[in-house]
Formats: sequence, C-alpha cells, structure tokens
Amino acid sequence: MRYPDRLLALIKSLSRLPGVGPKSAQKLGLYLAQNKAEAAELARAIEEVREHVGVCRRCGNLAEGELCPVCADPTRDDGVIAVVETAADVLAIEKSGEFTGVYHVLGGALNPLEGVGPESLSIDSLLERARQAREIILATSMTVEGEATAAYLSELLASTGVRLSRPAYGLPVGGTLEYVDEVTLARALAHRQPVTE
Ligand SMILES: [Zn+2]
Repeated sequence: MRYPDRLLALIKSLSRLPGVGPKSAQKLGLYLAQNKAEAAELARAIEEVREHVGVCRRCGNLAEGELCPVCADPTRDDGVIAVVETAADVLAIEKSGEFTGVYHVLGGALNPLEGVGPESLSIDSLLERARQAREIILATSMTVEGEATAAYLSELLASTGVRLSRPAYGLPVGGTLEYVDEVTLARALAHRQPVTE
C-alpha cells in the first residue's frame, strides 16, 4: 500500500524545507492529513506570509510593506550599518537591545564550494549605502564563510573611506549570530574592533 498521491506531494514539499528530513516530512504530512483544523490554519498562515511579507527594499530584512520596522524607525541612526548574513541575524541583534543603527542583510555568506559568490549576495546595494554611512560593522558569522565574507567586504569597502569594524571578543569561533546569547552579542557589538587593512 502507498499513501494517496496528494499526501505524497505534500510530504515531498515538506521534505524540501530546511531542517526537515524525509522522516519528519512524513510525520508532518500524516499529521496534517488527519488534523483538518490545524492544516487549514497552517495553509492560511503560509498564504498570508506569501502575500504580505517580503523584503525591505532598503536593507533586505523581512518587511510587511516597503520598509522593515528598523528602516521605518526615524530614531535609528542610519549612519551606522551592521552587515549581517540573514534576517535571523537581525532579530538576534535586535534582541540584544543595544544596537541603535540600521542593518544590511547580505542574503548569505561567500561559499565557493556551494556556488555562493559575491554576485549572489546584495553587495552592490551595500556599496551604494556605504557612501552615506559613517561606520560599517561587519557582523557576519564567526564561521569560515562569515570570516571570508568580512575580509572580502573590508577590502571592497576600504576605498569608500567609511569606518569599518568587526564585533569583538566573546563570539564563539564557528558560531552563527542566531545562536549567540543576547548579552554576549551586545558585548561583542559594544566592543567592536576597527578593521585594519
Ligand atoms: Zn530595512
């Protein structure tokens, strides 16, 4: 016996989601097939997000509408830009509550083995924004890819004359910002070090 085709199609879709393996996809699919109310609620939530949540046209963070909440906030200092890999990193820094500048979301980190080159990241718009900034904090992860990205960007941005810094001590080597606790992250940002060529 095999599952109905529609259920197989759902399981296949679920298995393509990040962090969901074939086993979990099957479990979720079976659950949704048997819990109609929750399936309807999930379908609605997905549709709402698909329709109304997009990307901030200035920084690449998640937004409902043209600008994300940070870019739309007039009290934020747009002269200081924290460059991060993902929208999850924005959330992590926001939770630390210490940062009053704005963000630039690259959309990942350089990873030649996986075919992620500079053209895959939003670097042109960063160069554009750098012209109006006083300081750029290269807050990419402490992973090999994050470090390579920070090194690449510092070289690229050196000619703009903008002050460059990198979050300081306390961040675990190999760690992504998303999993760093708020106090550590706040401290790392407060004690950021200038990047020197
Ligand atoms: Zn924004």
